[in-house]
This record gives sequence, C-alpha cells and structure tokens, in this order.
Amino acid sequence: MEKTIHILPQQLADKIAAGEVVGRPASAVKELIENSIDANATSISIVIKDGGTSLIQVIDNGTGMSAEDARLAFARHATSKIASYDDLENIRTLGFRGEALASIAAVSHVELRTRLQSSDVGTKVKIDGGEHLEVLPEATAPGTIISVRNLFYNTPGRRNFLKSPQTEYKYIVDVFQRAALAHPSVAMKLISNEETIFSLPSATLHERVKELLGEQLSSTLLSFEEKTEFAGIQGFLGKPDFARKTRTEQYLYLNNRSIANRNINHAVYQGYENMLEKGSFPVFILFINIDPHRVDVNVHPSKMEVKFEDESSMYRFVLTSVRKALSASDLIPAAGSREEHQVGNFSDFRMTTQPSGAGQRTSQWKELFQSESSFPKNIFPQPATTPSAGEIFKRDDPKKSDDKNDSDAQRSLWQVHNKYIIVSTAEGIMLVDQHAAHERVLYERAVVRMNGGEHPSQQLLFPRSVELSVGDVSLVSQLLPMLESLGFNLKIFGKTTVIVDGVPTDIKPGEEGTILQQLIDLYKEDEQSVKLEPRERLAKSYSCKAAIKAGDPLKDDEMHALLDQLFQTEVPFTCPHGRPVIIKLSLSELDRRFGRTS
Ligand code: ADP
Ligand code: MG
Repeated sequence: MEKTIHILPQQLADKIAAGEVVGRPASAVKELIENSIDANATSISIVIKDGGTSLIQVIDNGTGMSAEDARLAFARHATSKIASYDDLENIRTLGFRGEALASIAAVSHVELRTRLQSSDVGTKVKIDGGEHLEVLPEATAPGTIISVRNLFYNTPGRRNFLKSPQTEYKYIVDVFQRAALAHPSVAMKLISNEETIFSLPSATLHERVKELLGEQLSSTLLSFEEKTEFAGIQGFLGKPDFARKTRTEQYLYLNNRSIANRNINHAVYQGYENMLEKGSFPVFILFINIDPHRVDVNVHPSKMEVKFEDESSMYRFVLTSVRKALSASDLIPAAGSREEHQVGNFSDFRMTTQPSGAGQRTSQWKELFQSESSFPKNIFPQPATTPSAGEIFKRDDPKKSDDKNDSDAQRSLWQVHNKYIIVSTAEGIMLVDQHAAHERVLYERAVVRMNGGEHPSQQLLFPRSVELSVGDVSLVSQLLPMLESLGFNLKIFGKTTVIVDGVPTDIKPGEEGTILQQLIDLYKEDEQSVKLEPRERLAKSYSCKAAIKAGDPLKDDEMHALLDQLFQTEVPFTCPHGRPVIIKLSLSELDRRFGRTS
C-alpha cells in the first residue's frame, strides 16, 4: 500500500475546512495520537510534562516514514491520506487535512525520529517555530517518535490563553481516554511528569472499558448492538439510576472517530424517555458506523463535528436502537407493580422507575430519622429550645413520639406529595419546600464547619471504595482539606479510587458510597455556570446532595425538626441557590381570594 506524502493541490486544499487545529496541548496530543493510529501502530506511548506545555512526546511502532516523507510531513496540506476530491468523500483515516504537523511545528520546537519498518536506517527532522528544517540520518527503532517542546513559545497570546497545567493535563487525559476506548487493541500508555497515569495493554473493548471507567461503573453498563441497512451501532448504556449530573462520561464515535453531536445526544436522551430525572445525564459509550459517503467529517478543523447526509434518519436510528436496548433489559418495572400504587393513587413516574434499592434506602433512613421532636407543638413559629444543629436528624431515641395520637385538630403541619410541608400559623398558612429547607440548614452548617467549626464525622464500619475518573480523583485531592472540614474522611488510593472511611453525620445511611460522586459532579457543573469561590461552591453542592429530596416521605416529628432547624438559620427564606424556601399566605389574603369580606 505504501502511500507517500504529497502536497494537496490548491483547489483541494481549499476544500479543507479552514482554521487552526492546535488550540491547546490536548489538541496537539489528539492529532499526534491520530497520526500513530493512522500509521497502524499497535503500541502508542504519550509522555507529557506540565500539562503538555513543556513537552509532548508520542512514540509509536507504526509504519514510520521515509526521509523524504519525514521532510514533507511538515509542509502545509501535506498528507499521504487523500489525493483527490473523491477521497475527501470517502475518508477512512482519522487524518486527512495534512495540517497538524505543520501547525504544531509552527508554534513549538519539534524533533521527529522515524524509520520505515522495511528500512535499516531512520531519519531525524528538527524544526523550530516552523523554520530551520534539518533532516539527518538517525539510528532509531522502526516507527515514529515525535517530541514537541515549549508549545506556543513564540505566540504569547495563545500561551496566555492556556489554563493551569493541571487543567491542561485533564484535557489531555480526556483526549487519551477517548482515543483509548476507540482502539482497545492498541496498547496505550500515558506518562505525565514522570508518573505513569495509564498503562493499557492490548485488550477487548469490554476489558478496555473496565480499565478506563473502573470496575464499578462498567458493571452497571448494558451492552448492546444493532444493525440496519442504514447504519450500525454498538456500545454501552448506563442504567438510569447511575446517571450523572454532567455529560463527562459520554463517549460518542462515528466510524471510530470521537465526535460531539447534539442531535445524537438528544436522540439518546429521548431513548431513555422519562427514566432520567431532569438535569441528569446517562453514561454512554456509542460506536456508530455508517458508509463514509453518507457523512461529512470535513466540517471543522478539530474534526469533532460531522454532518450526516440524512440527519433525521440518523436521529431515528439512534433513538430506536437505544429505546430497544433499554426496554429489552429489565430497567423499567411495569407501571402499577410497586407499592406506591397501593399506598395511594398518586403516581410519580420517577418513583416507579427507581431501582429496587431506593425504597429500602428510604426506610432505613427513616428509622434513624425517628426522633422525638423537641418542637413545642402549636406555638410555631416561635423559636423553640432545640438541641444543637446536627443532632436532631440523627438522634436515635427509641422513645416513641406520640405524634401519631395527635388528633387532626391539633395538627399544625402536613406533608403534601412528599414534597411540601403545609404549616398552619397564627397569621395564616406557610408552604415550605422540604428539599430547599434542608438545603439551607445543611448549607449554613457546612459554612460553619469549613470556617473552622466542629466537623462531626461518622466512621464507616466498612470503608467504601469509590471509583472515580482520573480527573475527579485529582479534583478530590485538590478539595481534600475542605472535604475533611465538612466531615469526610477520605484516602486517595491510586489513580481512580478513593476510599471513604467516614462521612459527615448528615449523610443518609446508604448514600455513603454515592454522595461523593454526586457532590463532585455538581461541583464541576457549577464550575462551568457560576463564578464562586471553591469553598462556597462546595458548601452548595454538599447541601444540595445531602439534603432530603422531593419525594422523601417525612413523619410529623421529622417535619417539626426540619422547621425547627430552618428557623435557626440566618436566612430561612431562600435556599443557597436563591430559590424561595417558604411561601406565606396570610388569612387576609385567603379571605380576599375567596371573596370574603370579613
Ligand atoms: P494528516 O494526518 O491530516 O495527513 P498530518 O500533518 O497530521 O496530516 O501528518 C502529515 C503526514 O505525515 C501524514 O499524512 C502521514 O503520512 C505522516 N505522518 C504523520 N505522523 C506519522 C506517524 N506517526 N507515523 C507515520 N507517518 C506519519
Ligand atoms: Mg494527522
């Protein structure tokens, strides 16, 4: 096959989507990995320093290049992968633009060592800022080693635009993982600042998924495959109850190229129908294959965008395949088969699709929750003498509350739809959002703790090991002091594991293993949407995730305790996100609405 490099004719070059290929170290890494894969490498090692800003080195055992090709490779629009317009319509390689090496060389110090598999001597090329090209014979192993030093050294504008090495490193990890998933048979290694981050042997797709996403998450994935005349799809779908608050664990490939495509994402979400809560995103890894003639990958220089000849057929294909895969599994219990329906007629679809563990969790939690409220009845909302915050929700007093015997006449509060609490007050009624109220309580508690207050922690009898992504683990280690001040007791164990030895006393039993991931997901999400200092952001994510939820049934004494605590906070009327906690309706307002004159 031995294709050699040539410069594309201007007319064809003009058809290549214009623009910069290399915006940050991760985009250089992506281009270099793609080149190694296109060269049929079976082993690729990536060595980076300082988030790729001082060094990116990619070593492969692929075809290698002749001396002539090694020189040409750095010219613009020099490629061995397409030659004619027809080829552009039928792309089967990852590269085709002939621009990556030229763009990288223009903004860094590059050294390339390469040797054809069939040759006994290799070639070294040096090029600085796109100039002073030097080509020399060199003794080197078959394959290619490319070293990119001091990226953007001559473009201070772009250099300043870079984020911290830690953040650039995370982008590289993401690029690496996306490539590694698509090419499980290729052994791949990532070394950052001399530390081996990944060392993945050649494997099957299943094995690779397990290595990258962790045993725990991958064991919850559902694998499926579907093929029609139009296209093929294969991959893994996360169960709805393992959905995340961010889209980070979503991997989409078209003809083995990692792509981003809103249309397809939407089709996947639709495939889940209403199994997902609002604002949560399923984990998925999807490989779609289609005749290259029916898709245009020449849309954007990053090659991450594609355009289908028939967008709506693709949408329907994905939607139907996902729906079929999910309904073939037993994720959706038949409507009406669960207790909620026997208890009352109020059916909350979210409840009926919960995994079987959820009901159990609630009842366990309720047991611990059972506390005799110190709340003096009927004088609400006058502040009462209450135990210190932190105690109430955990008191395990076996003495039965006598709330049950209260006649309705004496009642002052009711829970409706397991979501709101109605309180009868001297002036009228109050409606309280139970989740928002608890969020406010926990938020203020978190702030006190992080400012050096006590941080009660409950040690776990059986420490939990939690699998997180590499990026998440590095975030946890960054936030460790603050997490500890909240009451977490954590140990980082390897690249993707955190051992949870203890959690804050507010955490519901059964959630010790999941709370950390939830918290981190929300923290990351807020990072993108609002500018807050980390401490504040963490307090918010923590209070949101540890708080009781809409849908959690509460007993009278629990409601009393909650309101009790709420009215000891500084700002009981809004939750940490600024939404209202309490809505008041005065008697006179009620009278007015009912058209009463007296
Ligand atoms: P493209 O990949 O779009 O063709 P690049 O600038 O990335 O453009 O690379 C230019 C050419 O250099 C490729 O077409 C290929 O022939 C050659 N090349 C680049 N990297 C390698 C490698 N690791 N092994 C073999 N050949 C390579
Ligand atoms: Mg390339």
